[in-house]
Amino acid sequence: MVKMKLQDEVTDSINPGDDFYNYVNKKWCDSHPIPSDKARYSAMTELSDRVTEQLHELLEKPGEDNQPKTSILARQLYASGMDETAIAAHDLQPMLPFIQEIEQAQHATDVKTLIARRHSAGRALIWHLSLDVDEKNSERYVMTVSQSGLLLPDRDYYFEKGERFEKTRAAYKSFLGRVFEALGKDNAANRAAHVYAIEEKLAAASNTSIENRDTEALYNPFTFAELSKRFQGVDWAAYQKVTGLRELDGLVVHQTKFLEAALRLLDTEDIEAWQDYLIAQSVVPYMPLLAKKYEDMHFTFFGTVLTGAEKQEDRYKRVIRNVSALLPEPIGRVYTEAHFDEAAKAAITDLVNHIQDALRERIKKLDWMSGATKQKALEKLDTFLPLLGYPDEWRSYGALELTDDYVANVLAIRKFEWQYDVGRVKGSVNRKEWLMSPATVNAYYWPNTNGITFPAAILQPPMFDASGDFAANYGAIGMVIGHEITHGFDDSGAKYDKIGNLHSWWTEEDRKAFEKHTQALAHQYDQYQVDGQHVKGELTLGENIADLGGMLIAYDALQNKLRESGQTEKIDGFTPEQRFFLAQARMWRTNIRPELALQFLVSDPHSPAHLRVNGVVTNVDAWYDVWHIAAASKLYQPAGERARIW
Ligand SMILES: [Zn+2]
Repeated sequence: MVKMKLQDEVTDSINPGDDFYNYVNKKWCDSHPIPSDKARYSAMTELSDRVTEQLHELLEKPGEDNQPKTSILARQLYASGMDETAIAAHDLQPMLPFIQEIEQAQHATDVKTLIARRHSAGRALIWHLSLDVDEKNSERYVMTVSQSGLLLPDRDYYFEKGERFEKTRAAYKSFLGRVFEALGKDNAANRAAHVYAIEEKLAAASNTSIENRDTEALYNPFTFAELSKRFQGVDWAAYQKVTGLRELDGLVVHQTKFLEAALRLLDTEDIEAWQDYLIAQSVVPYMPLLAKKYEDMHFTFFGTVLTGAEKQEDRYKRVIRNVSALLPEPIGRVYTEAHFDEAAKAAITDLVNHIQDALRERIKKLDWMSGATKQKALEKLDTFLPLLGYPDEWRSYGALELTDDYVANVLAIRKFEWQYDVGRVKGSVNRKEWLMSPATVNAYYWPNTNGITFPAAILQPPMFDASGDFAANYGAIGMVIGHEITHGFDDSGAKYDKIGNLHSWWTEEDRKAFEKHTQALAHQYDQYQVDGQHVKGELTLGENIADLGGMLIAYDALQNKLRESGQTEKIDGFTPEQRFFLAQARMWRTNIRPELALQFLVSDPHSPAHLRVNGVVTNVDAWYDVWHIAAASKLYQPAGERARIW
């Protein structure tokens, strides 16, 4: 990568105080149009493209003679996905057993048995059965039931008003019709209508994404005896037997209203309608793994209509994405053994320590948190667990065997994962488990373990550079780490104690004071519009709070680092503090198609990219000082009106 001088990167004709995002990013955005195979192009895309190229090279190679079994599995899955000749020859064959099984189901009870069988193969159908940490006892696992059963991205897609949504729904129905035609079924339009009608009813019974943020309301544990009373539509003993959960006492149902409605529909809707629905649910998610014509058909709706992408990415990129999703640790091991620098681990550990110290100081100074609660917050901060780079111990994939058949491999992995989860559901929780591949450009906070995970793939420029400008590291990855850590202490984190149990450690007064402070932020984001659609201030509130907190904490940490190191000199004419803000803004540079922007506005709890810069800096005192922002500037907020939370 050729490094650009900072003064050439920014646009001098834009006043930083009017539009900080474009001051930093306009030149980049103008010179990086969205490629036709993508729905957006961002700093993160640039980085993940680089990682994909590295993975491509690694997976095309046969691997060393003594490579671990997991690396062989990653290469086998990749090779089977790249074998287009075999995939074309199989045509629809891999789907036929599923369709046949559905067409043989003549009564609601048959459908219920079929649902259990799919769940026992690790596949979601109507609801999703999965292993989770017990929200109220973070040392053990539970099996949870979550709403599922929709092929559109969110339940709101079935009900939102406006021309864009009308068009999307019409395009979806005609897509479903084409699927049935491709399967050689008569009355395709009629069948598509069946599918849509059932989905619409399931959607109406589904929680909204805002409702799903209420973790307390999602925690509904039932013994199997209680399930049999409350949800009478299912023979739970039979379900337990088929799914392999005979030893288990019960399940946690996330959305009870949804499960009740779904079971009622199973008994009231015509069997023909259910058959069509089940066929669509079984075939559509697998179309990207089938012969080209099915993959293309899938893309015309899920790619072009829903995201605006014009053509598919190269095959190897799609296959690598699938390998990362299905075999996250194996592909992560292949990647980190070749590309992770151990020196980066020491540098990022030092940075995390600085962030943690800065948050500690901020918590002590908060005026809205009571003394007793602060004590608990500090204890929680001390038990905080960072997982950086890659796992200390790699998972073994003992009994998993793959072949050269792509779909069969995917099915085998899903089944293997289900059996793995059944095998450990009664064991104790592994706090050091990774929920993301080390080869993924992303990061997360996990409330149940009070830990953050930063994969090797994100610990690279422009997010992090162990041998580069430390001020930029604090502005980019430092801000993201701060963001993730604050999730442990905000209104969502307040629900989980220091060992990750759903047990509120705030007083009622703390909660009220916090809400009072956050109201202004919800209101601020409610005012923003993208393409005539309003940002949802409440949906994005948690992430906006974390963006603001992350920036403040990372900035404090930088100040401490500057005091320790005395490295206050300028680079390219910019002070370390200025480089901090430049790096923060650079990280979110994004070009996005309107279709995908709309999808995110509906369901993504994060704000649109430019607001993750302009919406945040307006509330940061240091930003005004560092950039000498005048009161006449567009982003200017009087000091008394800035949101203050952390
Ligand atoms: Zn977040």
